[in-house]
Amino acid sequence: MTEVYDLHCHSIASDGAFSPEALVTRAYEKGVTTLSLTDHDTVSGLAAAKQQAQVLGINFIDGIELSANWQKHCLHIVGLGINPTFSPLLKITDYLQTLRYERAEKMAAKLEKKNIVGALEAVKLAAGDGMITRTHFADFLLSQKHVDTRQEAFDRYLAQGKATYVATIWPELQEVIQWIIGAGGVAVIAHPLRYKLSANWMNRLLVDFKAAGGVGIEVITSRINQDEIRLISQYANKYDLAGSVGSDFHNDNSPYIELGRIAELPSNITPVWSLL
Ligand code: AMP
Ligand code: MN
Ligand code: MN
Ligand code: MN
Repeated sequence: MTEVYDLHCHSIASDGAFSPEALVTRAYEKGVTTLSLTDHDTVSGLAAAKQQAQVLGINFIDGIELSANWQKHCLHIVGLGINPTFSPLLKITDYLQTLRYERAEKMAAKLEKKNIVGALEAVKLAAGDGMITRTHFADFLLSQKHVDTRQEAFDRYLAQGKATYVATIWPELQEVIQWIIGAGGVAVIAHPLRYKLSANWMNRLLVDFKAAGGVGIEVITSRINQDEIRLISQYANKYDLAGSVGSDFHNDNSPYIELGRIAELPSNITPVWSLL
């Protein structure tokens, strides 16, 4: 049987559309043989996902996607193979939930200034016990017909520099990597080309990431072409980083791609799962 790894996706514990159980079932149906659930800043979906993976007989890796600050950029760092019951990690995710809640209050206040009311109640309801994300705001704006697509919600309201954007002071990259290592996991840079860094800045990032204990980079991520795969592979080899693969699946109709529908890791890249 071909092994299909998908080490980056989201459930309703953050901004995905599916419950952890439904997500694992869908991954199984799409032929994924090893899945990691990596919700934004939370591990709350992992227990249910792992249980469902056991029921279906697919391999499951506990994961998280942590928001991190590096040189005023918000980076996403995936932690794979973490222990989701490690109490220092749970303290951090509690703190991040508060940080996200406070950001949501500020975003809702900015929307009110534009005569768009009810956002906070809507995103709280939609997120439930999970993390409130900008995706929840996008869904609210869509449901209230302020925009026609999620993308338009980001372009007009939610993206950096737009009217509703609230700058957040995420934990520093070095700290985030140490938390992942402390929880027994390995740190991986998520979707490295989405930060729009110049080659110079990318090199600086990789030097800092390595020095802080990071070991992996997503070589295969959603909506990526062969040139981009080659470029990230060159960085991976230059900095001796292992490669990860992940769809970043959220829902049926986002710009992301289907679970497991991802290219294979190039053969000259060390798979990150060989480190787990
Ligand atoms: P947050 O971590 O709450 O700031 O939300 C970031 C999330 O918003 C990302 O993980 C994406 O899922 C989503 N997102 C960011 N930019 C876009 C975009 N242009 N279109 C659709 N979703 C986006
Ligand atoms: Mn997301
Ligand atoms: Mn991300
Ligand atoms: Mn993601």
